[in-house]
Amino acid sequence: MKLLLHACCGPCSLEPVRILRAEGHDLAIHYANSNIAPAEEHARRLATLRAWADGEGLPVLEGPYDPATWEACAGRVGEAALSAVGGDVLRLATEEGAREARCRACYRLRLSETARTAAEQGFDGVGTTLSVSPYQFSDVIREELVRAAADAGVRAVFEDFRPFYDEAVRRSRALGMYRQNYCGCRFSQAEAEAERVARKKARAAERAAAAEARAAEQADAAAERAARKAERAAYDAKQARKRAVLKALREQRRGNGENE
Ligand code: SF4
Repeated sequence: MKLLLHACCGPCSLEPVRILRAEGHDLAIHYANSNIAPAEEHARRLATLRAWADGEGLPVLEGPYDPATWEACAGRVGEAALSAVGGDVLRLATEEGAREARCRACYRLRLSETARTAAEQGFDGVGTTLSVSPYQFSDVIREELVRAAADAGVRAVFEDFRPFYDEAVRRSRALGMYRQNYCGCRFSQAEAEAERVARKKARAAERAAAAEARAAEQADAAAERAARKAERAAYDAKQARKRAVLKALREQRRGNGENE
């Protein structure tokens, strides 16, 4: 099938492209990611993707970069979710489902753009690399891909690529590709930072607790040694007293002319 594959970045494209090509699809990449902030990051991911795709003989079509449109849909949903958790970015990052509505809106925008482009440019179907990431909502991606494809009149080719995530990480590292440390939008950047700070704090607390436990162990061992020493000293003193009493008795007997 002539397939237009929505791609979020180079590293996430490696395994989906390998698998879809092995399945016989004729692929082109569509980079439609108005979610990515700031603009330099958007450009850097695109450059990484292009450099790799050129070597693969894989065409890359560039979608619009329109952060204002993203803000008007996903950004608005994200702001509502953020105020629902009292502005606590870490909660947004870690609480079950807290960011799902925002990500759905984000997938919808991007996958709709790719599906429309696929229809306009004569592709039979549309797919996405988003489902390689275990940090994404795979079921939501599938739903949004199916919806976008139906609206545009092309076929949806959804595959859950998550089992290949580790291999994608390994290959992208081996290729020396730029690997971003947040999903893409300004929220995800703040969430990733909040999670890093929380992990750092947790590690520091763990180290402090371990040091405290080690100090307590050392204090216990020292107290045990001191107790044993005192016990030995008390025993030695007792023995010395005993010897002194016996000696005194012997001397007394001797003084009394008694035989020992
Ligand atoms: S976390 Fe990723 S998928 Fe979710 S809204 Fe942000 S950029 Fe989009």
